[in-house]
Amino acid sequence: MPRPKHRSRSFRKVFRKVPGGRTVLHLQKQKPKMAHCAQCGAVLKGMLRKRASLLRNVSKTKKRVSRPYGGNLCSRCMRLKMVEKARV
Ligand SMILES: [Zn+2]
Repeated sequence: MPRPKHRSRSFRKVFRKVPGGRTVLHLQKQKPKMAHCAQCGAVLKGMLRKRASLLRNVSKTKKRVSRPYGGNLCSRCMRLKMVEKARV
C-alpha cells in the first residue's frame, strides 16, 4: 500500500524496471498543461512540458522559441502584434 500522501490521483503511476530485474511502481506528479498563446489560446510549439523544478536545469533555448514574444505568443499573433506596433 502506498503512503497516505500518495493515495491520490494527483500522482501518475510509472512502472520502472530496476537493475535487479523487478518492475516497481513509482508515483510521479502530473505533467503540467501545454503552454498556450496569451492572445488566441493556441498550443505553443517548441515548449518543454516539464515541471518547474526540472526546467531549472534546462537551457533557455530548449524552453522557448527564439523570436520576439517566443514562449508567450504564437507566430501568427506575434506577426499581428509587430504590424500593429509599426503602425503606431
Ligand atoms: Zn496566438
